[in-house]
Amino acid sequence: MALEMMAVPCLRDNYAYLVHDPGSGRTAVVDVPDTAPVHDALEARGWTLTDILITHHHDDHIGGVMRLREDTGAAVWGARADAHRLPPLDHALAEGDTVSIGAEAGTVIDVPGHTVGHIAFHFPDSQLAFTADSLMICGCGRLFEGTPEQMLQSLRKLMALPDETLICSGHDYTNGNLAFARSVDPDNEALAERMDQVAADRAAGRPMAVATLALEKATNPFLRATDDALKRSHHMTEAIDVEMFAHLRALKDTF
Ligand code: ZN
Ligand code: FE
Repeated sequence: MALEMMAVPCLRDNYAYLVHDPGSGRTAVVDVPDTAPVHDALEARGWTLTDILITHHHDDHIGGVMRLREDTGAAVWGARADAHRLPPLDHALAEGDTVSIGAEAGTVIDVPGHTVGHIAFHFPDSQLAFTADSLMICGCGRLFEGTPEQMLQSLRKLMALPDETLICSGHDYTNGNLAFARSVDPDNEALAERMDQVAADRAAGRPMAVATLALEKATNPFLRATDDALKRSHHMTEAIDVEMFAHLRALKDTF
């Protein structure tokens, strides 16, 4: 049975995600920007929290972890590489490790770039990937700690997941990201269609920080840094992929 996923808006534009295995009753939360909205969501669903999964050390992703752990006794999972700047971990993780939510096994993927110890969680059976501030909706996280090389390599790992995978990211930066994407990739028809769809999604109150990998590949400029036509339109025909990626990232930083 597939995991049930619920996107929980937190703070100004963050998302926490609840993941529930109906068979075992186990429920995990991915990132805890704040405790109150997570408690409310658990109560609304009648779910009992058993596990807390952390993607990276920024306050807007871990601010509520200690409190939630005290309230629920849930086990905390996070990157061993960043253990010195995360809340105390019950399970320290490295790339390739498994995180089980009941019957379903998730895999840990190292995705450095935004921070050096950033990890993502992939649940292949339910086709879910929690990418936080690495791969974001029509964008990617700012490079606070890592290099363009690191982020591009991280994005390539995520691009290798199945197309149907639902990417669940850390923030609703969707409007700004789409506007930027349009500015650097104006002839992309899939992007134009997506902008119409997103307006409808927002009007209907659907969660804004999730999308399929297939849609991201077609419209996210940072996943299209390897595209020859896009390079040509930026007069970067000779550029290697990482140069094109760095060019786009620099443009976005001042957009
Ligand atoms: Zn962050
Ligand atoms: Fe963040």
